[in-house]
Amino acid sequence: MEFKTPFDCVLFDLDDTLYSSKIGIGQACKKNIEEFLAIKCGITAEEAFSLRVELFRSYGSSLAGLIDLGYDVHPDEYHSFVHGRLPYERIEPDAELRELLLAIAQPKILFTNSDRQHARRALQRLGIDEECFERIICFETMNPHLFNSEEGDDDERLPSQAVRPHEVILKPSPAAMETAAWLAGFAPHRMLFLDDSERNIAAGKAIGIRTALVGKREKTKEADYVLEDISALRKVIPEIWGEEKKKGGEHGAVTTTTITRELDSMRQASPIGA
Ligand SMILES: [Mg+2]
Repeated sequence: MEFKTPFDCVLFDLDDTLYSSKIGIGQACKKNIEEFLAIKCGITAEEAFSLRVELFRSYGSSLAGLIDLGYDVHPDEYHSFVHGRLPYERIEPDAELRELLLAIAQPKILFTNSDRQHARRALQRLGIDEECFERIICFETMNPHLFNSEEGDDDERLPSQAVRPHEVILKPSPAAMETAAWLAGFAPHRMLFLDDSERNIAAGKAIGIRTALVGKREKTKEADYVLEDISALRKVIPEIWGEEKKKGGEHGAVTTTTITRELDSMRQASPIGA
């Protein structure tokens, strides 16, 4: 890196992070999940709502819960029903976001729980080339054990492969976070992870990654930064570009002392597996 920055790599969540939650993709996704549950489990719409909430709480995702409970569900079947019917037309091209991402010199990694097809369609709608990212870590990447495909064959020691044969690995599980850190190939404390989920942010922090909560006003205790919208990235985290925050900016006075303190705390953090 020619300039001085605390980050060697930036991990971006996709949904509700690279585009706003306000366009309702997340809501449409929940509705599709409930329809899937109703059909698969032979239950009413009301029961499907409660089941979705319960599965999310207990397993982190409905698919993980269904598989663990013994339902015969293939991930591709689930994803084509749940993601394949989303209103993608609501995702508008975002030239400003494209410029912002291209202006980041460090390797960028897309780190999403969604399947590869969804990631491709969403990026296409945003007008962002897949090649903008060094790598896309998605459902298939974290769960090669659920597919009889060759994906993951070159990543034999993936942390997610040490799990039970039918276990679904997704953020915020430690195995998902460790898999991402391992594939990124940098010390966790030198990586920045942006996500709209407080649970995911806490999971990233737990393995020593620097974190930024997106789409919220209030910083959680595990978040190093908070930004209401991804478009504020340069203003809130100028350190990505090796720049210091402006004193007395809208996010409060941030002094050189603050930055020095942050750098000190990062130096003290011990990277896992490094
Ligand atoms: Mg998200």
